[in-house]
Amino acid sequence: MPCMQFVTGWSTPDRRSLVNFDNKVLGVFREHIQRLDIDAEAGGLLLGEVRGTHLNLIRATFPTVDDLRSRYSFERLPQGHAEVAQKMWSDSRGTVRYLGEWHTHPQDFPTPSGIDRSEWKRLASGRKDKRPFLAVIVGRAGLHVELVPLTGSGIVLSPCD
Ligand SMILES: [Zn+2]
Repeated sequence: MPCMQFVTGWSTPDRRSLVNFDNKVLGVFREHIQRLDIDAEAGGLLLGEVRGTHLNLIRATFPTVDDLRSRYSFERLPQGHAEVAQKMWSDSRGTVRYLGEWHTHPQDFPTPSGIDRSEWKRLASGRKDKRPFLAVIVGRAGLHVELVPLTGSGIVLSPCD
């Protein structure tokens, strides 16, 4: 049985990296769950702090009116999200940074598509700080949380104790 849900603490199988989602971040995820067939896909940026090998997510940007939304695709127009990311970075004097991205799937327990994986690879390889890219998919009953390194395959995190 999947032990998921929308919980705050996630870890890699070796427990060397922990990812923590602030309640505000989980709130943004919950608000955008694709419950109905007519609900559109949503997504945005994940912003937070780096503490050693751990990530503390404190902010998730969400769809702006400029984003194009449909049920099966989500195309992000960067302006609104990038402005929030830039403001958080300067307000926090560089401690809160862009760590990854999230988007929704109309599935209970979401699985990444081939397009998701190639997009994550592209975003991970573009990171200036060479840290893994944090990828989150918000399903109807749970999250898919994955750290995508610069090279090699991603590491799926688990919410289990
Ligand atoms: Zn996807």
